Amino acid sequence: MNERSDQTSSNSSKMKKDGVIFEFCEVCNLNHNQDSRHKYFPSHVNSLSSIISRFHKKLSNIRSYLKSPVPHGSENRVWCVFCNCDIEELPSFFAFGTAIHHLASASHLKNTKNFLWKHGGKMDKVDSLRILEADVVKWEKKCRLLKSDGANETTHGSLNDIHNEFNSKCIDTFNQNINQSINSSYMNVVECVKQDFGSIDILVHSLANGPEVSKPLLETSRNGYLTAISASSYAFVSLLRHFLPIINSGGSTISLTYIASERIIPGYGGGISSAKAALESDTKVLAFEAGRKSKIRVNTMSAGPLRSRAAKAIGFIEMMIDYSVKNAPFAKELSADEVGNAAAFLASPLASAITGSVLYVDNGLNAMGVGVDSPVFTNLDIPTGN
Ligand SMILES: [Zn+2]
Ligand SMILES: [Zn+2]
Repeated sequence: MNERSDQTSSNSSKMKKDGVIFEFCEVCNLNHNQDSRHKYFPSHVNSLSSIISRFHKKLSNIRSYLKSPVPHGSENRVWCVFCNCDIEELPSFFAFGTAIHHLASASHLKNTKNFLWKHGGKMDKVDSLRILEADVVKWEKKCRLLKSDGANETTHGSLNDIHNEFNSKCIDTFNQNINQSINSSYMNVVECVKQDFGSIDILVHSLANGPEVSKPLLETSRNGYLTAISASSYAFVSLLRHFLPIINSGGSTISLTYIASERIIPGYGGGISSAKAALESDTKVLAFEAGRKSKIRVNTMSAGPLRSRAAKAIGFIEMMIDYSVKNAPFAKELSADEVGNAAAFLASPLASAITGSVLYVDNGLNAMGVGVDSPVFTNLDIPTGN
């Protein structure tokens, strides 16, 4: 959630010009010099009522999802005019999940009251502009039921760890996960971490989602492409922005990328390759911004093919492992420990001067310019390493 300002009142500004005080009204979107009388002017009253009716419309749409939850909501953006914030939808959760929690939150209630009070709205409207906690509880129950109904469904080649979790038999884990996930906008997560730990030293972003990963880029829809970018790249930008205030100076952040960002890897489609390219570029820019602002390091790790659960969703991981063993400088399978060890190094003070970098943990495969298992190299007698 992108909270631009905590309270709508902070959005207004007063300025003095030729002895007259002008004030900005966010309802009318103009400067006026009418003081508190402004809110009684017909044009203001009309603007206010059209804002409220637009919000009612939006809310009635969201209420339909509250009544019948729809899993894996796509990118639904909601602008909360009362809180002056952009509510980002997390693509793998139930549709409008983030918005539903926002609209039921105490801060939304407070901001809505402030907004109505400031702009002359009727206070009895408040309940029609929010969602009641009791309805959220019912909705969550339905989400859980939906989950257990869907336990036997199969995924359709989607690179979506959370989705796979959804379909796994580990109902308890899922229930825990989904409850925590749905309950948490990034801000809530930060708040919880802050309460539990005060501040942190290490932040790891390990998430990618591309609903059309099995499609070639040429056949990827706009929605599939944007969802991939949103969940796999922007998610890190947003995560870092929200966590920055509680990461200690000298702290380290790590995300996970893949060489498909810069080299052609057929089969890694749906815009995920584009998302990884964005992630690597953002790593550099964020390293500068977070470095200057808070002395925090930002790095990304590019691991070789690994038999992880998420990788299995792409479907050709065995082939890629085989390719790496045959062509990388080290002719062996990569282990999760090797990736973990490199992450521990990056997170530790041993890497205190390393920021803005892509660290390859891939048995050196990234350095190869050709596949040495090609028959054209037969006569070179290249050692197999085995
Ligand atoms: Zn106005
Ligand atoms: Zn709000």
